[in-house]
Amino acid sequence: MTTFNPCVTCGACCASFRVSFYWAEGDDAPAGFVPHELTEQVNSFYRCMQGTNSPTPRCVALEGTIGESVGCRIYHNRPTPCREFDASIDHSNLRCDQARARFGMLPIIQVQEVA
Ligand code: SF4
Ligand code: SF4
Repeated sequence: MTTFNPCVTCGACCASFRVSFYWAEGDDAPAGFVPHELTEQVNSFYRCMQGTNSPTPRCVALEGTIGESVGCRIYHNRPTPCREFDASIDHSNLRCDQARARFGMLPIIQVQEVA
């Protein structure tokens, strides 16, 4: 059985938005897990993944080529917004569609229709 995972050939959302989260998710806090050296402070409460606080964002943890083959080098320690960001498969996620469009990729639903 194969599982359709469009994210491994996409990565657009990791290079489209500021990825910010509560500062204590950083591993310099007692229960934190995100490598803090890959983050930067946004304000007193939030930090973000380095590289995403930019008009042309690209998370420092994103490896590979967008639209071809990508991976997250801190996948098991990625912050909450990454864990909660669903690909537009079982239900619509407009931000997934928007991110893909920035890199010239169709929404996943249309890719599945073509396949
Ligand atoms: S934009 Fe959508 S399909 Fe692409 S990596 Fe993000 S969640 Fe996956
Ligand atoms: S931490 Fe990983 S999943 Fe989250 S934006 Fe960066 S590369 Fe993408």
